Amino acid sequence: MNKDEFRKHGYQFIDWIADYYEEVQKYPVRSQVQPDAIKKQIPETPPISGEPMEKLFEDFKEIILPGITHWQHPGWFAYFPANTSPPSILGEILTAGLGSQCMIWQTSPAAAELEERMMEWLRMMLQLPEGWEGVIHDTASTATLCALLTARERATNFESNQSGMRKEMTVYASEEAHSSVEKDVKIAGYGKQYLRYIPADAAFALLPEKLEDMIRQDKRKGYMPACVIATVGTTSSAGIDPLEAIGQICCAEKVWLHVDAAYAGTAAILPKKRWILNGIEHADSFVFNPHKWMFTNFDCSAYFVKDPGALIRTFEIHPEYLKTGRDAQVKNFRDWGIQLGRRFRALKLWFVIRYYGVEQLQSMIREHIRLAQLFKEWIEKEPGFEVMAPVHLSLVCFRINDGRKENELNELNKSLMEQINDTGKIFLTHTTLKGKYVLRLAVGQRMTQESHVQNAWEIIRKCAKSIL
Ligand SMILES: *Cc1c(COP(=O)(O)O)cnc(C)c1O
Repeated sequence: MNKDEFRKHGYQFIDWIADYYEEVQKYPVRSQVQPDAIKKQIPETPPISGEPMEKLFEDFKEIILPGITHWQHPGWFAYFPANTSPPSILGEILTAGLGSQCMIWQTSPAAAELEERMMEWLRMMLQLPEGWEGVIHDTASTATLCALLTARERATNFESNQSGMRKEMTVYASEEAHSSVEKDVKIAGYGKQYLRYIPADAAFALLPEKLEDMIRQDKRKGYMPACVIATVGTTSSAGIDPLEAIGQICCAEKVWLHVDAAYAGTAAILPKKRWILNGIEHADSFVFNPHKWMFTNFDCSAYFVKDPGALIRTFEIHPEYLKTGRDAQVKNFRDWGIQLGRRFRALKLWFVIRYYGVEQLQSMIREHIRLAQLFKEWIEKEPGFEVMAPVHLSLVCFRINDGRKENELNELNKSLMEQINDTGKIFLTHTTLKGKYVLRLAVGQRMTQESHVQNAWEIIRKCAKSIL
């Protein structure tokens, strides 16, 4: 592709993206295609000779777009958001253009140093303890795996890296913890049977006294408790585990405390919501995802540790071909996690934080929380509807309840959700809380405004009426 052609299509794609954001509401939020519909349209074999960009762009629009679920639609209320923003997208374009692979300082000093500074900015924005240092990972799943590996090494005085796991080591998390905890426990070699699920209270927060009992019981049996994973903003209901109490137990029992705040962490930039991290100073590591709720393109997950030395000692490698004369003076992020090669993710984050400034980021998050509270109030006032979990942030769990039996209610709410999502106008997803099927409405797409939440409420009520 020559320079002029590249320029032409580059401008054309930016135009398309700008229009897309204006018109995104004309698409069904959740893709309506059936399994295999897209694959059938892609040739089974690669083309032998090249094709013109015009044709590729046509096929993008014709074949790919119908199979896209529009996460940046203002009617997005499913899962948690993975929101983005124009400054983030522009940053990603430059990152793609540079095509740097930022494994060590030398392979792009600016990437390493900007990442270091961005993590300092985020640490201040969330008021994490001074002295903590951070690294950008792809996802919270990876960050939690790093925490489990570092916890394993610290518990065994860095013996497991050398000799493999010789002891029966245990991990603790609330029954409401994210599925990545189980996955990571398996990958890190602890074994699923050594993961202890601790009961949660009526607000879906871990019960610290149950945690303490379980750790002591395990110690008496000869197991080695290695890591507690607390969740701030559980995936099902945004429950907030009490870090202060959990932290004291972890300090007394000398167990690594990792805090997973993948979604909710962003809310801690608001002074009024900073309480969700009260007690964080007791933690050894912490993760939250700017790629969920901080207007930064997927992927960008911020992982912080109290003691970078333990992290580096767990992951460092020193092959001859990666040695440079600067290694004593600089941060080589290859030693801060699993992957060697690394994307330049700090650039988009820099653009987002600078373009909006902390104040505007705060006001956008505050607005999402306000909209969720508003929706909660509508539910509370409406006969036949009920709120199913405390609404601390921007997630509302609710269901319809006309007094029929629990198992029938589950079926009823399932049909309600299918009917809502089939409209294509909004998209929301479900979970179960203490065995009850509930719908989740998560506000967080950048363009979602009060009118969109109002519209969602009308659709939900209409669908409820039609199935009752
Ligand atoms: C979304 C989520 C995760 C997983 O996030 P990834 O970055 O996709 O790995 C983990 N924990 C919680 C609480 C989450 O909400």
